[in-house]
Amino acid sequence: MTTNSKVPELFGSMVFNEAVMQDRLPKDIFRALKKTIKEGTKLDAAVANVVASAMKDWAISKGATHYTHWFQPMTGVPAEKHDSFISPNDDGTVIMEFSGKELIKGEPDASSFPSGGLRATFEARGYTAWDPTSYAFVKDGTLYIPTAFCSYTGDILDKKTPLLRSMDAISKQACRVLRLFGKECKRVSTTVGPEQEYFLINEEDYKQREDLIFTGRTLFGAMPPKGQEMDDHYFGALRPRVAAFMAELDQELWKLGVLAKTKHNEVAPCQHELAPIFSTTNIATDHNQLMMEMMKRVAKKHGFYCLLHEKPFEGVNGSGKHNNWSISTDAGENLLEPGRTPAANRQFLLFLTAVIKAVDEYQDLLRVSVANAGNDHRLGANEAPPAIVSMFVGDELEAIIEAIEKGETHTDVDKTMMSIGVSVLPAIPKDTTDRNRTSPFAFTGNKFEFRMPGSTFNIACTNIMLNTAVAEELRQFADELEAAKDFDAALAALIQREIKAHKRIIFNGNGYGADWPAEAERRGLLNLKSTPDAIPYYTMDKNVKLFQRHGVYTRVEMESRGEILAEEYAKTLHIEALTMLDMLKKQIIPACVAYSRELADTVAVKKSIGVDAPAELALVKALTEKVAALLERQAVLEEKVSAAPQGTKEAPRYYHDEVIPAMAGARAVADELEMMVGEKHWPFPTYAKILYYV
Ligand code: ADP
Ligand code: MG
Repeated sequence: MTTNSKVPELFGSMVFNEAVMQDRLPKDIFRALKKTIKEGTKLDAAVANVVASAMKDWAISKGATHYTHWFQPMTGVPAEKHDSFISPNDDGTVIMEFSGKELIKGEPDASSFPSGGLRATFEARGYTAWDPTSYAFVKDGTLYIPTAFCSYTGDILDKKTPLLRSMDAISKQACRVLRLFGKECKRVSTTVGPEQEYFLINEEDYKQREDLIFTGRTLFGAMPPKGQEMDDHYFGALRPRVAAFMAELDQELWKLGVLAKTKHNEVAPCQHELAPIFSTTNIATDHNQLMMEMMKRVAKKHGFYCLLHEKPFEGVNGSGKHNNWSISTDAGENLLEPGRTPAANRQFLLFLTAVIKAVDEYQDLLRVSVANAGNDHRLGANEAPPAIVSMFVGDELEAIIEAIEKGETHTDVDKTMMSIGVSVLPAIPKDTTDRNRTSPFAFTGNKFEFRMPGSTFNIACTNIMLNTAVAEELRQFADELEAAKDFDAALAALIQREIKAHKRIIFNGNGYGADWPAEAERRGLLNLKSTPDAIPYYTMDKNVKLFQRHGVYTRVEMESRGEILAEEYAKTLHIEALTMLDMLKKQIIPACVAYSRELADTVAVKKSIGVDAPAELALVKALTEKVAALLERQAVLEEKVSAAPQGTKEAPRYYHDEVIPAMAGARAVADELEMMVGEKHWPFPTYAKILYYV
């Protein structure tokens, strides 16, 4: 392990970053590449060849023998195929080679990735294209080149391409808006700091649970005598083994240039969190994928298994991934930072209004972007934000918004704006102490924190939705304001009008409160409780139009993504149901029978020596009844699973309405049996053992 003083040298030591580029590339090549990175200009072939060669030499010096185009197919889980640098000579020897062509474009056989019907198998070969805005790095003897993934017909097949497009879209529109405020800027970037929650359990326990192995979550398990009610885990002292894991994880991530920053225990026993310092959305997305991979890998070295599932254990908190999001200019100005002067305040209020309008108009898309079977256990379950999308802006901003809304009584709208700017805005404290933890989309001083994403999610999807929706509102604002004769008056009128129209999305109250769903319904907000409820919204006309307009997705691409979401949901539940049946038949019921047999034997033996055994007799009778009940529930589940429809149209709804209740029914009885059967008979580690390991 490295000492603290070495961290700056360690950081990014396996990354082909700007410092390495500057060191290893001729000046003109470095300049050309930097232009490509900053402005998205095309890289010409001659430049690419020089870059590839330098990259290869550097990678070899870091122990690499192979390279891979690292891409994020629609499963969200990164994919990689490794090719060595070797190239044969005539004399039977080899040299190490890597061309610009190989750097820029790859052709993986991609027929086995989900495409949602986008690609027939005869045209299965997609291609990958280097994303020079995300640095290449060396890991385990391979040079990793972050890439986008498309089909030959031009359809996008990954999560990176639409994310980059959405970043371009918001950049273009935000620059237009800034021009109206007299600011010239070439590029505006969205930034994200994703806070990652996870569970660490003993690998030995993991290996003994089929449900964890096949589904990532426990499908059975009675609550232990102690849950999280004492709130003694949150920010508690780290177990030494966990601290050692976290220290090594930090080191590994730093080497790869990931800005790992904050680590602590979370609410549930065995639950922890790691947050990085924010970066641009596409780098944050790549790094979050690396972070999840490294968590799993480093955990194993410490005898742990890292669970990233949204709900590994019933009855204790699940895991999310808070997506802290903001927008900044290439000059480093955070556009969601409340200003100190009236002029700056107006600009801030305009961007704030764009976000408010975007979240209101595209609440369905935000909800869809966090929909999967795992996250359905969290959202609306009083531990995570509700399934209703709303925004929290804090008391100070809410007062301003109300003042703006009521500005209608003022004859001089412009004057109202100015006075609001001077008197109220500078008073917004950056760290509002009573941050509303129950809100799905909270303003936290100079950024928004979207708390609905689940811990397993690739954050690309959420950020594609956010970037594009806000881009659309900025486009509308820019159109209107560019055409205005009196900019100041038009701006004030616009902000007031839009605040009025979209104020319903702002809710500063308790999102867990029993009255909120009714209130939300009165406001006309959506309450999409489950994934099957959310899926149809994906391809609604207004949403397709949004993405088409900004060149992010075509209709066909969106339809394919909707298909994949539906398919994934049905498949996940199918696997969960089959795993449950397997555990019931092969483990739980045999264990109950064996224990009954032991009790029955005891009764018989005691009887043979003339001793009564009322306790054992009562127990064996109760057990026999319970097992019979369990068999019935098992039969119901089996029947429901075998009757499941195939199509992606009907399957999600069916699994939700029919299979989930049947699973819950079987689990309830099995969990009761767990409390009746002797510990040494129970076939796998219980919640108490897993969650309170020593
Ligand atoms: P907490 O929410 O736990 O109080 P912070 O507010 O300090 O923590 O930050 C949470 C996350 O938000 C961190 O990952 C941080 O880097 C990120 N963050 C801070 N500023 C921005 C920004 N301008 N854009 C995106 N993310 C940001
Ligand atoms: Mg937070």
